[in-house]
Amino acid sequence: MASHSNRIITIANQKGGVGKTTTAINLATALAAIGESVLIVDLDPQGNASTGLGIDRRDRKLSSYDLLMGTHGIFDIVQQTAVPNLSILPSTMDLLGIEMEIAGESDRVFRLRRALFSEEAAQYSYILVDCPPSFNLLTMNAMTAAHSVLVPLQCEFFALEGLSQLLETVDQIRRTVNPSLDIQGIVLTMYDSRNNLALQVVNDVRTHLGEKVYHTLIPRNVRVSEAPSYGKPAILYDLKCAGSQAYLQLASEVIQRERQRKAA
Ligand code: ADP
Ligand code: MG
Repeated sequence: MASHSNRIITIANQKGGVGKTTTAINLATALAAIGESVLIVDLDPQGNASTGLGIDRRDRKLSSYDLLMGTHGIFDIVQQTAVPNLSILPSTMDLLGIEMEIAGESDRVFRLRRALFSEEAAQYSYILVDCPPSFNLLTMNAMTAAHSVLVPLQCEFFALEGLSQLLETVDQIRRTVNPSLDIQGIVLTMYDSRNNLALQVVNDVRTHLGEKVYHTLIPRNVRVSEAPSYGKPAILYDLKCAGSQAYLQLASEVIQRERQRKAA
């Protein structure tokens, strides 16, 4: 299947509010800033990645829904964002109903994979898929289509809870439909250095998960949380803030891991 040299990374965690969308937007922006051609696929019916990148709901005529339904291709749906080199397949509420619509189809988990292993998708060097906060058919499609999964974990007491379920799901996808699926890495988000517990959580997670955890810690940063209301990635809204700088650093770790994989 790996006939194209692009990388498809699914950003997943069945918990909401852990930083999936923020990571998708800012990692994508950082990769685009260093000259990669990047596509975000917004698979969450909530459409936060689309909104956060300034794509108005009224301007979303076609969406990732149409891609999954197979009625349209990437080039029909794609929208350019304000970030050079960064495009998005936006989400619409139609995605809420897709599970019912394709539940009976034998190719239901392969819909995204088929669309992303195409000539059109080969135009992008990185494709990041932003998942909804559940293990539904959309997330299964995202994992089936991906080379690797990037997992944001919020620095809180229950950070590790639910992670084993996530890793089990990745294993199951590997055993059934996507044998080469890898964990790109686990990124700790919303780290607050003033909170003593946070450091303990970081140490805990590193002890349990070792090298899978990126060195970069994403700090809790008010500029990062403000940016989406301006329809901008934090990296455009305030490049100098600690959150933006952390996402730039994360991008270089992601690239480094991809290089190592290529060399292996
Ligand atoms: P998910 O996509 O996993 O549901 P989001 O990326 O939407 O999570 O983040 C949840 C909320 O936390 C959002 O309001 C977002 O702006 C905020 N947030 C995410 N990362 C940070 C951060 N590093 N600092 C401050 N707020 C953040
Ligand atoms: Mg989200």
